[in-house]
Amino acid sequence: MSDKQNHDNEEQDFREIEIQPKEADKQNKDDDTDYEEICYVCRRPESRAGKLINMPGGLHICSDCMQKAFDSFEKSGLQYSDLMKMTSMPPGMTFQDPSQMQIPKKQKIKRKKEEGAPGFDLKTIPHPHEMKARLDEYVVGQESAKKAISVAVYNHYKRVAADPSDGIEIEKSNLLMIGPTGSGKTYLVKTLARLLDVPLAIADATSLTEAGYIGDDIESVVSKLLAAADNDVEKAERGIIFIDEIDKIAKKKNTNTRDVSGESVQQELLKLLEGSTVEVPVGGSSKNMMVPMTTVNTNNILFICGGAFPDLEDIIRERLNQKSAIGFQSELRMQKGEGENLLSQVTVDDLRQFGMIPEFLGRLPIIVTLETLTADYLVRILTEPKNAIVKQYQKLLRMDEVDLQFEPEALTQIARLALEKKTGARALRAIIEGFMQDIMYEIPKDNNIGSVTITEDYINKKGGPVIGFRGLSVM
Ligand code: ADP
Repeated sequence: MSDKQNHDNEEQDFREIEIQPKEADKQNKDDDTDYEEICYVCRRPESRAGKLINMPGGLHICSDCMQKAFDSFEKSGLQYSDLMKMTSMPPGMTFQDPSQMQIPKKQKIKRKKEEGAPGFDLKTIPHPHEMKARLDEYVVGQESAKKAISVAVYNHYKRVAADPSDGIEIEKSNLLMIGPTGSGKTYLVKTLARLLDVPLAIADATSLTEAGYIGDDIESVVSKLLAAADNDVEKAERGIIFIDEIDKIAKKKNTNTRDVSGESVQQELLKLLEGSTVEVPVGGSSKNMMVPMTTVNTNNILFICGGAFPDLEDIIRERLNQKSAIGFQSELRMQKGEGENLLSQVTVDDLRQFGMIPEFLGRLPIIVTLETLTADYLVRILTEPKNAIVKQYQKLLRMDEVDLQFEPEALTQIARLALEKKTGARALRAIIEGFMQDIMYEIPKDNNIGSVTITEDYINKKGGPVIGFRGLSVM
């Protein structure tokens, strides 16, 4: 290639590189038009504060704040030029250059659509049977819970889409999910949000505290949802908030001290659950001068509260026992209930006895219970879901052109080990990871290995996996 040609090519490459950032800039600008500017002083977005005045350095100030600033200058007899001349700043401190004070995009709020723009479209929400079928692809068992959730969620979004002009307002129905640790509560909600394509925020009730105490205040859950919705208030207002460990904020029994973490947090959650307008910081959970604020209406946000509710079974059993003392019929029912999932017989009274306050329960009218996962279910969880753990490892080894198989007895043994941990399906991954680590370390060493079968003996640490070599029958 001649020097000239080389030079031309270099120039061509250079030009391409030069053009790219410009394209990116344009795209950023387009994205930016979706976001509202915020008054730097009062933190209100333009839609609330009115037209903003552009300042140097990309800052914006609303006319109210600008006026207040002029008024205070006037009152104090100061001139703006006097301010600039002030030199009594402590050593090392200077006025910040306004051009360095750009508000990051994550603190901007997405513009609300013009009035009359199409709202929520029910056509995009799958019917309950479709929703259940999609959940079936990922969540094993828990049939009644999947069905109840599909109906409840469908009705919730029908309510969001409903026309209120006929005066019939469909009441909000948030969900309470009760099930042992690792039975799939969080997983169900996550799967649901993904298939509905709505933003989801997951919060832990134990981290929530009454306003004024150390911890996250109640509104922080809405702020999290707003972040999950890319600061798009409209999108957040149709999202799902999952509050886990809700049983941990039960009213404490026999205590004379003020109950900061329990009952009062339930009280504070009431207004969020039934629907209210809350002021939340954008792009972070802390409320401070630098963080812009916006308002979010929780009326159409679906709240799902979940918890393991330990000892709830005892309360249910006791109630059923009391009934059985009254009549022979109930005794039969109780005996039947013993072997089955006792949780599925829970009533609002049982939950009240557990320590949940009636007003709180009133705002969670749909109660869904999940079963304790048996060894059979755990084996199915290992192999059946679309992204089952076994399928994931098979995919990893297939990339090394190695076929991975598990003996059915090996899977049963993994399930038994998981059951011993008493953390439901959560233990599965850690257990299988322990066995797979050595295999994934050793296999790539030898290109001749074509297959690996995990045996029960390997899981019981009494033998190794069965290795098959390429072009040879299994050894
Ligand atoms: P919890 O009920 O404590 O919220 P999780 O939903 O966090 O339990 O479950 C832990 C993990 O176990 C999930 O990430 C998921 O991979 C798996 N899992 C639990 N239950 C099921 C299920 N029914 N079907 C498929 N996977 C499940």
